[in-house]
Amino acid sequence: MPETMDNKWFINYLACPKCKIAFTIKELKASCKRCHNTYPKIDGIWNLLYSGNVSKKSLAEYDKMHQTTFGGPNDGSYEILATIARGNKTVDIACGEGLIEKLAPETVGVEFSLNALKKAKKNGAKYLVLADAQNLPFLDNTFDVAISAGSLEHFPNPQKAINEMARVAKIQVLTVHKPLPIPCALTVHKLATKLLHVTHQPIEQPISEKQLEKMFKIAGLHIVFKGVWTLPVNYGKVIKILPELKNIPSCSFIISIKNG
Ligand SMILES: [Zn+2]
Repeated sequence: MPETMDNKWFINYLACPKCKIAFTIKELKASCKRCHNTYPKIDGIWNLLYSGNVSKKSLAEYDKMHQTTFGGPNDGSYEILATIARGNKTVDIACGEGLIEKLAPETVGVEFSLNALKKAKKNGAKYLVLADAQNLPFLDNTFDVAISAGSLEHFPNPQKAINEMARVAKIQVLTVHKPLPIPCALTVHKLATKLLHVTHQPIEQPISEKQLEKMFKIAGLHIVFKGVWTLPVNYGKVIKILPELKNIPSCSFIISIKNG
């Protein structure tokens, strides 16, 4: 099926995830005239995964988790993020099962799990791409806003993911899990995941505020707002014996804008 007029703007902003230049798009195939890689559109979802940084094991494990409903916190976070997304040209990095898109269907959802994307589509998402957050398949300055909710801490190279958010959008809105407010939190985290042999996705590597600030600076972003988001922490999804922790300062909440 050819693209409809309605989503022409969307395909015009797609870019080779490696070369960041516009594709030549013919119906269900996108090809790059520089690297000659080709990418298909399957069941309404562009498959633009350029696997430079993606571990096959992580992808397989994460995809498996999304065979059943993975869900997300039911604390109103998604309503707030959808309100920020709505009415703007917004991209949601690592959109999972489309919990923002369910409330703001015009948002472009990026995700590297096909199972999650299929659920996002059922949830009403209109614009979905299978892609790696560290190699976004969009032209520079495509979006007003890039949202990343609880995903940065899962990426092998979070700096590269922030650089990409800075490249494609003017404003960045992120929630990022930070170390738990206990002594030696990062050491405890590392030890626990090692002992339980959880080394793959979706286990997270919490990022401290200081580390984040450094990363944003490197990406050429100016942090305008920095706060704390009491997003529930549910390690039980990965390590069954652990409970859900509520009302703790679990995440940094950051809004930034591109310099210049
Ligand atoms: Zn290319």
